[in-house]
Amino acid sequence: MRSRPLGRTGLEVSELGFGASPLGAVYGAFAEQDGIDAVHAALDSGVTFFDVSPYYGATAAEAVLGKALRGVDRAGYVLATKVGRYGDAAFDFGADRVKRSVHESLERLGTDHVDLIQCHDIEFGDLDRIAGETIPALRELREAGLVRFIGVTGLPLPALAYVAERAEVDTVMSYCQYTLQNRRLAAWREHFTGRGVAVLNAAPLAMGALTSRGAPPWHPAPAPVLERCAAAAALCRSRGADLTRLALRFAVSTGGFATTVVGGAHPDEVRRNVRWLREPLDEALLRDVEECLAPVRDVGWPSGRPEN
Ligand code: NAD
Repeated sequence: MRSRPLGRTGLEVSELGFGASPLGAVYGAFAEQDGIDAVHAALDSGVTFFDVSPYYGATAAEAVLGKALRGVDRAGYVLATKVGRYGDAAFDFGADRVKRSVHESLERLGTDHVDLIQCHDIEFGDLDRIAGETIPALRELREAGLVRFIGVTGLPLPALAYVAERAEVDTVMSYCQYTLQNRRLAAWREHFTGRGVAVLNAAPLAMGALTSRGAPPWHPAPAPVLERCAAAAALCRSRGADLTRLALRFAVSTGGFATTVVGGAHPDEVRRNVRWLREPLDEALLRDVEECLAPVRDVGWPSGRPEN
């Protein structure tokens, strides 16, 4: 597994990161032991970046990830979690709440520090308050040694840029924005990296839409996007290929992001993903799938407050 620098932090992260939202049953029920084995399969395969949030499964994902990481050498992985978005669909980016949130996450994750703390889905908050209150509060925790670096996550890229221009952040993470269907994150990459801010690409499988199984029922993409993704999966099947493999391989090897974070709750998925990275990209299939997805290229959906 190749590693890349995480911006100016001095940390290195594996090019493929482990996304723990499926450990909160976001994609349906799973056996806890499979989830724990998935984390161990990732570690054994050289994955060093793990991303979670108290929002996933209303704290359940942090609890399972914490259980899986118990006893693992703390210097062997980079642990990222989030603040501001919680399971009861509530957002709270207030200084007191985010500080308490970090303490609660540390407890669940069984560690005395997280490497990266991210404000979760900032487009649902007041961006000026996030820059002026939330991030300074996290900076205090940094001085106390509870967090090492600070980032922001969300869907609308202008919102991430707005905060990154007004507060010192080390990373930005967006999702479903550099995939076979959507390349908008690539257009913003230099904007962030030019300021020393690392760009993390989450959900290269477009939250399940670019898999052979298809999108979960809650997927927010408009119907035409999901229809074209299903057509792309059928096209791959008709060639004896798997859209999941093409989507993962494409995002990791062409994106050039610090890491690409893919979700998983089963060790077989993790091992498959790692194996796929070593295999060549099928350029002919890629061209045909891109043609199939062309009518919905870069089509997204609204997220957050209208002003953001
Ligand atoms: P994803 O695009 O990574 O897809 C995950 C889905 O694909 C899951 O159902 C998983 O079981 C399935 N999958 C993975 N490997 C597979 C394989 N080999 N074969 C078949 N299916 C496979 O979407 P995601 O998990 O939502 O996103 C990845 C991670 O990025 C999240 O877990 C989370 O850590 C992070 N994320 C953050 C934000 C945010 O901060 N706002 C938003 C989305 C995702």
